[in-house]
Amino acid sequence: MYDVVVLAYGAESDRSLGVPGEDLRGIHSAREFVWWYNGHPDYCDMSPDLKSTDTAVVLGQGNVALDVARILLRPTSELETTDIADHALASLRESNIRKVYLVGRRGPVQAACTAKELREILGMRNLRVHVQEADLVTAPVDEEELKKNRIQRRVYELFSKAATSPRELDGVDDRDLHFMFFRKPDRFFPSELSSRVGGVRLEKTCLKENGASGKQVAVGTGEFEDIKCGLVLKSIGYKSLPVDGLPFDERRGVVPNVKGKVLSSDQPEKAIVEQGLYVAGWLKRGPTGIIATNLYCAEETVASIMEDVKNGLVIPNSGSPKAGREGLLQSLQDRNIPFVQLNGWARIDSKERMLGQFKNKPREKITTWDELLRVATNG
Ligand code: NAP
Repeated sequence: MYDVVVLAYGAESDRSLGVPGEDLRGIHSAREFVWWYNGHPDYCDMSPDLKSTDTAVVLGQGNVALDVARILLRPTSELETTDIADHALASLRESNIRKVYLVGRRGPVQAACTAKELREILGMRNLRVHVQEADLVTAPVDEEELKKNRIQRRVYELFSKAATSPRELDGVDDRDLHFMFFRKPDRFFPSELSSRVGGVRLEKTCLKENGASGKQVAVGTGEFEDIKCGLVLKSIGYKSLPVDGLPFDERRGVVPNVKGKVLSSDQPEKAIVEQGLYVAGWLKRGPTGIIATNLYCAEETVASIMEDVKNGLVIPNSGSPKAGREGLLQSLQDRNIPFVQLNGWARIDSKERMLGQFKNKPREKITTWDELLRVATNG
């Protein structure tokens, strides 16, 4: 129906750890938890149990890990004026979680989070932050990494400051955040009383330089320790999903491409360019990078489209024009597929903002498909 199609549907699944016990109740991906508190209609019934435990373990130390830890630890009085979903706020008000462990398989030099996000969580007024000074000892190869990367340097400085200058708290509703470095998950074990998760066994690690990439990777030492907990959030990265008939690189979890031009195969020697098909964002590069990274990424894809248009590769000179938007709408109607156009989205947006006004929130999320479709149609 179109001369040019851009795939930009992101990464809506999760990497798995592949360790025993991963299916126990009480273990979720951070993505599911994020979708829950952001009011995604498919996850509003997720109901993570925040009541029967005071301890949560977050695996991974990227910005998503910091996001979920912050939601678990922040006083709900401060969340009330954000656009957090109402069901999540109600559940967090009753939460008994007071302690969160953020576990990284490498050290503070390699933590995947960025400085602004780390500073934000370290500055939370009710929070005691625990960083072991012994974890801050650096090897010459760490020093080299720090010299080369300004963000890593800032992050490392923030961890050093947190380790050496603990903050005084007033003792009212205090919470604890433990950064655990050099630990990788080995298995999960159930609690004594139920089939829910009761804890995680961690293997201590040390870093070894990987010959091929020169990157320092975590290697198990054979020494283990257990942390008891009733909630685990795995925050080890998102994963894109393939679409039937679309080329997909299963190993990297991306659509194979050159500067956003989709390739028919992930093996360069066999690959040809799929004419008119482009990709942008996490589906193109993998699940890393902030909004600004995606802006540059989109610009590159648009430049590729413009180049192909200029070279006459995508818009044929002869033949009848493609059916385009009208054809697409007709096809959706013929197949009885519900869809929302921009004006419907605008009705949802304005309704959510209006509902938010009553509660001093920027918006109140509508969290069911039925209600979203109803508002999109009738306002
Ligand atoms: P991420 O930054 O790639 O972090 C993934 C974390 O998981 C790393 O600590 C990684 O450790 C660890 N990990 C991966 N596989 C593991 C395994 N098998 N066992 C143990 N640990 C493992 O991913 P993310 O946190 O999902 O964030 C995705 C992107 O979104 C990032 O670029 C992030 O900056 C961005 N983001 C930005 C914001 C913001 O700007 N506020 C908010 C959210 C997300 P290793 O380093 O050892 O691999």
